[in-house]
Amino acid sequence: LNAALVKSDQPHILCVNPWIHDFAAYDFWASPIGLLSLAAILRQHGFRVSFIDCLDRFHPKAAPVSRQRAGRGPYLKQEIAKPAGLQAIPRTYSRYGISPQWFQEDLLALEAPDLILVTSMMTYWYPGLQETIGILKKTFSAPVWLGGIYATLCTDHARATSGADKVLPGAGEIDILDQVAAFTGGGKTIGFDPQNLDTYPYPALDLKRKLAHVPLLTSRGCPFSCRYCASAFLNPRRLRRDPAAVVEEIRYWHTRFGIIDFAFYDDALLVDAEQHVIPMLENIIESRINVRFHTPNALHLRHITAKTAKLMHQAGFETIRLGLETAAFHPGKRLDVKVAAGDFSRAVGHLQSAGFSPGKIGAYLLAGLPDQDTEQLVASIVAVKEMGILPILAYYSPIPHTAVWNQAVKASRYDLASDPVFTNNAIFPCQPENFSWETKSALKRLIAA
Ligand code: SF4
Repeated sequence: LNAALVKSDQPHILCVNPWIHDFAAYDFWASPIGLLSLAAILRQHGFRVSFIDCLDRFHPKAAPVSRQRAGRGPYLKQEIAKPAGLQAIPRTYSRYGISPQWFQEDLLALEAPDLILVTSMMTYWYPGLQETIGILKKTFSAPVWLGGIYATLCTDHARATSGADKVLPGAGEIDILDQVAAFTGGGKTIGFDPQNLDTYPYPALDLKRKLAHVPLLTSRGCPFSCRYCASAFLNPRRLRRDPAAVVEEIRYWHTRFGIIDFAFYDDALLVDAEQHVIPMLENIIESRINVRFHTPNALHLRHITAKTAKLMHQAGFETIRLGLETAAFHPGKRLDVKVAAGDFSRAVGHLQSAGFSPGKIGAYLLAGLPDQDTEQLVASIVAVKEMGILPILAYYSPIPHTAVWNQAVKASRYDLASDPVFTNNAIFPCQPENFSWETKSALKRLIAA
């Protein structure tokens, strides 16, 4: 809320991170990095920017957060009615984030904005977005512009249903300044190169009420093209930052804000390691910065070598997540293109030799894929456990504009194309009519055993 209080003639732009409506949600080092990057760019160009986070876990009216969990933690939540079509799901549906009353009070404490920017994430979270925009429209007369992942993947749906005055798909940094300057009538000379990540200001994370962790995006895009993934659609061009500039940013957040926990958001952190992650990690080690790193986005198994594993361990990596669709390596059956047989055990071996204890390593196993064989999934869980590491089920969510989308639509017991709310991975949308919740519980029990 702070930046808007600086008086000036410049237009005031309010940035809002909306609520999540879902069956489950947890803050695994989540931050609206795209929206806060736009906020930083706008601020750098003289606009007054404020920020309200509907997901704020540290709101002053909330009970104090009792336990620090290395930057993670549960969201506040309130049970709400399930959306149409999902009433039969035997689970509680909630609004994750602050209460509507606190949101309203925080909005009313602000100077009225000239423009409101709202971001979006998962396609099936759009009901939370609609509620957020509804309150913004009732409170202020300023137009609401919507961007982010849902706005990019489901642009027509967003235009038809979100309530936003404008929907801006794609990477916002490319033309946000032109768009905002045209709207506010003030011409701006662009002070950065949208195609060069090293010219961007750091995301305006200082606008958050409390900074429990810092997200790091050291590259954009991914050279692979897994059939279930939208990375290529969302970031068609691969861009990389200068490793030294990343270390400078880590040092900035650590020394100025005392941040210990950093989460890498890259889709392909270890790709081109010799030019990218290796010099970055060597620099971190030489700097003797005492911080912790987490990789909530999976690391590519094939790129975990003895050298990268050792450097990650020395640099302070705490949470290692590996991308492993399934441990049953049948040629022709795989939906990703990044893992080959042997990569898995080799990668885990390198990590263990480097000193990572088993509890720090987890492997994502995709569950709920169209036509997926449960027995194969069970075998994968057993195989991962036999390696001494933690299997983590990553429930598949069908995403428009991906290669398997049509197959998912065909396999689903819901009309996925009619409404993104049915793509929620919590309901196993691609399992057939006889989908059994007992199977899901059995898988969870197997993991915990
Ligand atoms: S490797 Fe990961 S980010 Fe890249 S296409 Fe596959 S799933 Fe997406």
